[in-house]
Amino acid sequence: MRYVSTRGAAPELDFGDVLLVGLATDGGLYVPTEVPPLPQDWDLERPYAELAAAVMWPYVEGSIERGTFDAVVADSYRTFDHPDVVPMRELDTGLYLAELFWGPTLAFKDVALQLVGRLFDHELGRRGDRVTVVGATSGDTGSAAIEALRDREAVDCFILHPHGRVSEVQRRQMTTVLADNVFNLAVDGTFDDCQDLVKAMFADEAFRGRFHLSAVNSINFARVLAQIVYYVTAAAWVRRHLGAATPVSFVVPTGNFGNVYAGHLARRAGLPVRRLVVASNANDILQRFFTTGTMTQTGVVPTLSPSMDIQVSSNLERLLWELHGGEGDAVDAFMRRFRDERTVTLDAERFRSLDEGFTAYRADDAACLEVMARYHRDHDVLVDPHTAVGLCAAEAHGYGVDRPLVVLATAHPAKFADAVQQATGVRPALPSRLADLLERPERYERVANDLDAVEAQVASRARLGH
Ligand SMILES: *Cc1c(COP(=O)(O)O)cnc(C)c1O
Repeated sequence: MRYVSTRGAAPELDFGDVLLVGLATDGGLYVPTEVPPLPQDWDLERPYAELAAAVMWPYVEGSIERGTFDAVVADSYRTFDHPDVVPMRELDTGLYLAELFWGPTLAFKDVALQLVGRLFDHELGRRGDRVTVVGATSGDTGSAAIEALRDREAVDCFILHPHGRVSEVQRRQMTTVLADNVFNLAVDGTFDDCQDLVKAMFADEAFRGRFHLSAVNSINFARVLAQIVYYVTAAAWVRRHLGAATPVSFVVPTGNFGNVYAGHLARRAGLPVRRLVVASNANDILQRFFTTGTMTQTGVVPTLSPSMDIQVSSNLERLLWELHGGEGDAVDAFMRRFRDERTVTLDAERFRSLDEGFTAYRADDAACLEVMARYHRDHDVLVDPHTAVGLCAAEAHGYGVDRPLVVLATAHPAKFADAVQQATGVRPALPSRLADLLERPERYERVANDLDAVEAQVASRARLGH
């Protein structure tokens, strides 16, 4: 499989390179040049890891041996707390939840990152190389990255969080990981300060080169790839459950659009998907784009579903590339206009072609609290506020046995216990393997909001650069 940049001016790469480079040199995102069809027996019941390896194999072939890949995939999903990895739950006739939150950090990013961390290690080991991953977190992505990279031979991982500004559970999910290659830096500053420090480290070329700085960010195609799989397992489950080959629609609580784009690739690969329903919170740039064709940037509003509080959905560029027939120049012009004018409109013909496969809804915090309370009362189920955005969209869209709908449940309710308690009066308990989280020993370094101080921490602890 070859991969090209959405902006058309970066070298073509194979999977191993795409995994390690992240962003293309022309500022674009890497996309596969073709979408291989699903295995013919995709709807057969079998272990998650087995189907996952079969679905992903054509995308990685040539960069890794099949036996090794199968073993890496199996190992990645062994860390999940449920034998089905992504179990399904019926909420109502024709309405189902796909529970993506049984991984180590209780949110759906584990499904991709558990695999990506291991693939990183494998590819770097093969090349005899190492990297130092640095990242900033406002709470959630830091723990998913740490769980993905802990104990990896070829990677050291430094995560900056704003001291005193993340919740205790969020902090402890990071700081109680005592692996030798994981370093938590609590910065005396805000999340923006942490992000600026990470950017400054990447901009410091001598430092970047000496420590082989790297990131595992949300535009990495390998993350999208791992997310194709659960669309397949969920559609297969619904087909077996209903005993009918009715196409399924998916509701996706959306931030960066990575998850929706994975569903789009599953559909292009032949999965019978009727609609992909984009569910936004009050940060509704995508909902406005999919209903009007105009994408306009506004300020971020904090909501009860913080992992969807974004201004710009970076993965949308991959869909735009397709809409523009793979013409990098046109994508480049579109994205430039958006960057310069903060608003850009898709032409009518392309907008119509979008309209065939996607629908979008928006739900604010009040609607989410109401839906959380009602599903608790009527269906005895606790959902987290991100999943609640999805349930609001599901109700707006409608469903039934003749038009089944799967809502992707992106976080465990205990991960957002305050919001769940506010809505339902019930405080969801952490799963048993995290039950003693509040008693576990922590390790982190407090550091000034200062580039030299942070770089000195990295330099004194990283295995590279000596
Ligand atoms: C990251 C995240 C999302 C948004 O996913 P995207 O791929 O960025 O659209 C939704 N819910 C939760 C809980 C998340 O962590």
